[in-house]
Amino acid sequence: MKHYKPETLAIRTQVETTSHKEHSAPLFLTSSFIFDDAEAMRAIFADETAGNIYSRFSNPNSQEFIDKLCVLEQTEDGIATATGMAAIFATFMGLLQSGDHILSSASVFGSTHTLFTKLFPKWGITHTYFTSDSIEKLEQIVQPNTKVLYCETPSNPGLQILDLELLSKFCHQHSILLIVDNCFATPYLQNPTKFGADIIIHSATKYIDGQGRVLGGAILGSKEIIEKIRFFARHSGPSMSPFNAWLLSKSLETLAIRMEKHSSNAEKIVEYLENNTYIEKVMYPFSLSHPQYHLAKKQMKLGGGIVTCIIKGGIDNGKRFIDELQMCSLSANLGDTRTIVTHPASTTHSKLTEEERQYVGILPGLIRISVGLEHHTDIINDIQQALEKCQ
Ligand SMILES: *Cc1c(COP(=O)(O)O)cnc(C)c1O
Repeated sequence: MKHYKPETLAIRTQVETTSHKEHSAPLFLTSSFIFDDAEAMRAIFADETAGNIYSRFSNPNSQEFIDKLCVLEQTEDGIATATGMAAIFATFMGLLQSGDHILSSASVFGSTHTLFTKLFPKWGITHTYFTSDSIEKLEQIVQPNTKVLYCETPSNPGLQILDLELLSKFCHQHSILLIVDNCFATPYLQNPTKFGADIIIHSATKYIDGQGRVLGGAILGSKEIIEKIRFFARHSGPSMSPFNAWLLSKSLETLAIRMEKHSSNAEKIVEYLENNTYIEKVMYPFSLSHPQYHLAKKQMKLGGGIVTCIIKGGIDNGKRFIDELQMCSLSANLGDTRTIVTHPASTTHSKLTEEERQYVGILPGLIRISVGLEHHTDIINDIQQALEKCQ
């Protein structure tokens, strides 16, 4: 199968067919598996032969989902988890211990920030943030006990791009593992392992499902690293359900075509917003005005489906704008077929202080648009009528 292109592998990587010779992979709704005899059971428990024991450890559906992601992200091994946060938590718990230190990009997903600031201190795990502007200061903030560098690129919601090649060089000089949350780009648009990343994390809830239906997550990396995380996952139980794995494996079959359309729709929205008198600034990785346009082009295949803009008139107009939208949904999710618009300053990031919001780039008028797969003119018309009411 190795010679096929990623689009084909996402479709043709499949669990073996059963005696029914079904064409589409069946759903294996079973919590446990049976053995031919006591010796076969012993050998599987002793890891001498491969096989399924119990769906908390492995299941054909989650294995198919992970096999596909491994070929797409070019990693040896992986673990499917119930949610993206379960993937993030299991990764840290599998690799770190009390007294360890995390270097992290400052713009991380809200619950990841909560893990760092509210939960990890309980176990003596500390962190230091850096921003895309202070990347050259990493040498000054790295500590002897730093074990991992964690980052998201493009970041949420500011869409800053981090130089993965530079980060991986830095990490490998200091014997630190580089972990990349690749949720915004998806494996179709960006493969962090090409630039030297050690571990890839996905919230499959977003573009991998792509239709706003189920939660899921994945951890991908070398066999050696995944084995350490698997030990934690196997015994603490953040497993993906077979049903979600079955659905998400099917979703991967259309990931490429969906990401092409999300990106081309996003480009049309960017073009519209860039020439708009109500808008102060537009951020999109593949827009010429993006300060890291060349880096984005190097790391990503297309710009992706998230567009961020700053609406004139600050927090009041930000809220008014989303209230006036007639078609686009007000939801905290992203990566759906439906266009979703959020105002981070009054919602997801409202608990931060003004100063903290400034530090991670959440300005009062910042609007995040997760551009869906509707016809682009309908999305633009909805945005336009709402902007016209924000005078
Ligand atoms: C949503 C999200 C997560 C968390 O994923 P869940 O599936 O909601 O647990 C992590 N990272 C990023 C960038 C996300 O957008």
